[in-house]
Amino acid sequence: LYNLLQELRGNIRVFCRIRPSFHVEAKSSIDYIGNDGSMMILDPLKPQSSRKSFQFNKIFGPNASQEEVYKDTQPLVRSVMDGYNVCIFAYGQTGSGKTHTMCGPSSGPAKDMGINYMALNDLFELSCSRSDINKYEIQVQMVEIYNEQVRDLLCEDTSSTKYPFFINYSGNGGVSLPDAAMHRVQTTNDVLDLMKLGEQNRAFSSTAMNNRSSRSHSVLTVHVHGKDASGSMLKSCLHLVDLAGSERVDKSEVTGDRLKEAQHINKSLACLGDVIAALAQKNSHIPYRNSKLTQLLQNSLGGHAKMLMFAHVSPEADFYGETISTLKFAQRVSTV
Ligand code: ADP
Ligand code: MG
Repeated sequence: LYNLLQELRGNIRVFCRIRPSFHVEAKSSIDYIGNDGSMMILDPLKPQSSRKSFQFNKIFGPNASQEEVYKDTQPLVRSVMDGYNVCIFAYGQTGSGKTHTMCGPSSGPAKDMGINYMALNDLFELSCSRSDINKYEIQVQMVEIYNEQVRDLLCEDTSSTKYPFFINYSGNGGVSLPDAAMHRVQTTNDVLDLMKLGEQNRAFSSTAMNNRSSRSHSVLTVHVHGKDASGSMLKSCLHLVDLAGSERVDKSEVTGDRLKEAQHINKSLACLGDVIAALAQKNSHIPYRNSKLTQLLQNSLGGHAKMLMFAHVSPEADFYGETISTLKFAQRVSTV
């Protein structure tokens, strides 16, 4: 029934999440949050009449817990076990809470785990509870896309990573990145170990000055293979994507590698926006080929696949400009 309802409402949903303010005294640009997914943004230096309104499927305010966020994500995650391909994206400027939503807090208690962990945990539980009827096998891959190059984050020896990666377009929900290591996972501890390896590999190439994680996309892909008593097979995947920071960099201030990075990020986020907007408008041509990210996700964007985007915003008035541009991007790809 859930899937039927989803179908009727369309397969693209957009949630907005506002992180708590870092400074209690800081002026906020969030003027109003409605229970119906509406919100109002105001530049505190401008008159009330200049408020801008946005509408999404749901808004999570600064006090929303990881559990609340996962509760609304869970049905989508669970539909993977019924054969649907699902993509979940975290979009927003650096510092707006993308990694918090997907992974959880960088330090501190494991209780605040993000969607990646909760989703895998959920899939394990479902797989157990259905084990008398269905046999499931769950495998994961994790890659990063940096400057339009794909790198495996789950191989033991990163120095041997080869470029460029081969992306397979023909498979339907199957292995789209045959070159990336595939790890079978059976417990949440397996997942935690792999995430640690992924984080180490990601950190390997960044220095304090060059925090690469905010300038690359990371894609955790969960492959589910199922088989029921009659022997019929099911194959689907869940992509959990922590996108590169969407902030605009001032072209007059950056040069060289930094400018190149910024151009790659702008281009790939714009391509993602174009693909989802084309899907939302039911266009006949979907421009998947314009970036590595959309190529990699091609099998899981469109058709019967389901998509959820979290648009993350920082509440501080100082970020008003970035907040507006994040919400505009999110509004464009939404179907509400
Ligand atoms: P991004 O990945 O978008 O750059 P982070 O997830 O790293 O942003 O968040 C920036 C900081 O804000 C981190 O210290 C993070 O723990 C904190 N933070 C973000 N969202 C929340 C939230 N909803 N609740 C509490 N702390 C948050
Ligand atoms: Mg991050």
